[in-house]
Amino acid sequence: MIAPFKKAIPVIERIENAGFEAYFVGGAIRDYVLNRPIADVDIATSALPSELKAIFSKTVDVGVEHGTILILYDGESYEATTFRTESSYQDYRRPTSVTFVRSLHEDLQRRDFTMNAIAMTKTGTLIDPFNGYKAIQQKLIQTVGAPEERFQEDALRMMRAIRFVSQLGFQLHEETKTALTHFAPLLQHIAVERIGMEFSKLLAGVYKKTAFELLIQTKLYQQLPDLITKEEAIKKCYQLNLAPLNEIQMWLLLLYLLELKNAQDFLWKWKLPGKKVKYLVRALLLLQERMQQNWSLTSLYYAKEETAIDVEIVYQTLSGNSVDQTANNMKASFKDMVITDRNELAVTGNDVMKWLGKSGGPWLKSMLQHIEIAVLHKQLENNKDSIKEWVQTCNLQLEKDC
Ligand code: ATP
Ligand code: MG
Repeated sequence: MIAPFKKAIPVIERIENAGFEAYFVGGAIRDYVLNRPIADVDIATSALPSELKAIFSKTVDVGVEHGTILILYDGESYEATTFRTESSYQDYRRPTSVTFVRSLHEDLQRRDFTMNAIAMTKTGTLIDPFNGYKAIQQKLIQTVGAPEERFQEDALRMMRAIRFVSQLGFQLHEETKTALTHFAPLLQHIAVERIGMEFSKLLAGVYKKTAFELLIQTKLYQQLPDLITKEEAIKKCYQLNLAPLNEIQMWLLLLYLLELKNAQDFLWKWKLPGKKVKYLVRALLLLQERMQQNWSLTSLYYAKEETAIDVEIVYQTLSGNSVDQTANNMKASFKDMVITDRNELAVTGNDVMKWLGKSGGPWLKSMLQHIEIAVLHKQLENNKDSIKEWVQTCNLQLEKDC
């Protein structure tokens, strides 16, 4: 038994000792079979949340109405969910209420894909009523039960199928693919936030090129915010070498290729966090500049390392070049800089005001900028005495500029 499961065995044992069943389930088992890194170890159990709370002293209510609580044990946290069925789906969405059951089989049956419907006992025995293990060996994504029913119950599963293609490089089982193509329009019933979470994972996957091809083939892209008319731009995407790009770099590449009138509006429609939107809008402007001309020392400095790396990786991808060394090269450029941020200057605004006997104002910002650029270009040493002398002698000339 590998480490993350081993550590969780006492949790399973405690639940069992209290007279209930408990198993490891979900993505962790799939990833374990695949020899991939395991994210979260989730537990399915016959115990109700209230019964689990009586067993463990530290728990957090994260979704008691859906039967889920977080068990904090030995420095780790485990999501434990009571066996349940989701019998009454409404409007092609996840149900608002669930029915708790005492059978593992029923719980596995409500799960989306056979590869995600395997349970494992504390001794490592797999319980696999839907042949998920075989599907994993065959690299197939196949719904548990009839795909037409499962996609109509919860349309998000179609988006999940394609994000798993992107992450795992699996193929869609033929019937699953046919149903997905047929029911793709049902995705419009799903909250943008939930779609966005799956899409972000899709963008981060190694096999995103195949996932993009599938978005086009199945026409699922037409259900994604503001992409309905963007078939050509999406197709351009999959002619590029996308594998090395991370999620942020993929958003940036997409923004560029989509030739949007307003990138901010587009990202808001996707309901991305404000901080991410701001970062991407700024990075897009820099990318557009980069398409016109190479970096200068000043433009690189103002871009900042993280953004400059993202922009350059996307630029090189768009140019059809390898990005293997891009991040290292950019890091080396920043390492060579005398300063990489204004707060690395040997002086502050207060020093400058004191030397010149003036109170603050717009002139000060401009003055600091002049100092910054002079230091950056090695025209001025980054120490207090040199800067003081420079400020005092240059003051007359600079005041005109400021
Ligand atoms: P990841 O490694 O990205 O977390 P995961 O398979 O663990 O992948 P989760 O979203 O964490 O995905 O879901 C945990 C498990 O819950 C899944 O493995 C699956 O069994 C089940 N599940 C999740 N979403 C759905 C859904 N929409 N319909 C049916 N079952 C689902
Ligand atoms: Mg998970």
